[in-house]
Amino acid sequence: MTVPITLDDLPIRDDLRGRSPYGAPQLDVAVRLNTNENSFPVPERVVEAIATAVGAQLRQLNRYPDRDAVALRIDLAGYLGHDLTAAGVWAANGSNEVQQQLLQVFAGPGRVALGFTPAYSMHPLLALGTGTRWIDGRRGPDFALTATDAAAQVAADQPDLVFLCSPNNPTGTALDPAVITAVLDAAPGIVVVDEAYAEFARAGTPSALTLLSAHPRLVVTRTMSKAFGFAGGRLGYLAAHPAVVDAVQLVRLPYHLSALTQAAARAALAHRDALLGSVRVIMEQRDRIVADLRRLGLTVADSDANFVLFAVGGDQRRVWRALLERGVLVRDVGLTGWLRVTAGTPEETDAFLAAMTELAALTEPAR
Ligand SMILES: *Cc1c(COP(=O)(O)O)cnc(C)c1O
Repeated sequence: MTVPITLDDLPIRDDLRGRSPYGAPQLDVAVRLNTNENSFPVPERVVEAIATAVGAQLRQLNRYPDRDAVALRIDLAGYLGHDLTAAGVWAANGSNEVQQQLLQVFAGPGRVALGFTPAYSMHPLLALGTGTRWIDGRRGPDFALTATDAAAQVAADQPDLVFLCSPNNPTGTALDPAVITAVLDAAPGIVVVDEAYAEFARAGTPSALTLLSAHPRLVVTRTMSKAFGFAGGRLGYLAAHPAVVDAVQLVRLPYHLSALTQAAARAALAHRDALLGSVRVIMEQRDRIVADLRRLGLTVADSDANFVLFAVGGDQRRVWRALLERGVLVRDVGLTGWLRVTAGTPEETDAFLAAMTELAALTEPAR
């Protein structure tokens, strides 16, 4: 008998053969602006509150946690507002897990999911993992998505689940709510709006939460990974009609959300003013990056998020490497001619903009 020694020797599913796992480089660089994390560490008094809350759970770790995470869902509903209650909110280990659960219950083998590329690269990967056929929807030349075009594509392909991303990653721009309602009208199934960056949206950008009461097939996913600076805590959630929450419970693993996660997230939510204090600073840095890159002559996408997509012309890998050589790690999202940079602290912006100014000679504005 031969001993399997590589992935290729193992009897994995045919549809997973030759695929690579999700992975942004985790490099040890001074200025890391590649995964849209919140650069501001958890404030000391919030650290203490989380430690106390988690500590109180330790003696009961012999018991399973609250399977339905009710107290946490009440807190999340209170944070979201819009007359939401715990019945219309569901939480899991990151919004990635929430979206996986949505695909498990509303898509899966024999069913189809559609998203408008470029968007969050995890959406097609989650579809793959759940055996869902994926369709790449198209955007306009400047990454724009109009209501008419989006609705026409959805009507033609009849997907069981549509992913919209607003503000969109990697472009940064929020969707006009008219696009969301047009897709809801055209879609036969579930419409998921990924609002991971909602807290960073520019003034006057309404959340899809405002559409929930009129649209029972709409699901809005949110996360504590970005604005809350709680990426390591792994807490994502959704808001939807209570029937959607009932549906998701059919596929969630029992006790999926540990007692420690629930306690830590509740303590973080109780201190949301302190945690969300960084949002304004980050938005200022975001706007500064957009303005300064435009001043350097680059084409830059409008951003409602904590990152900026900018055109470097030609081969983006060359600029990515040149920035790395200057101690700044940004993200090559695989879009020819474009790079994405996270907005963090003022010092990180200084370093990034100084490096970009140096590199201006290497770059040329996109057509
Ligand atoms: C970062 C990000 C998330 C966050 O995923 P979590 O699992 O909640 O950490 C979700 N959606 C998009 C578009 C993102 O960029």
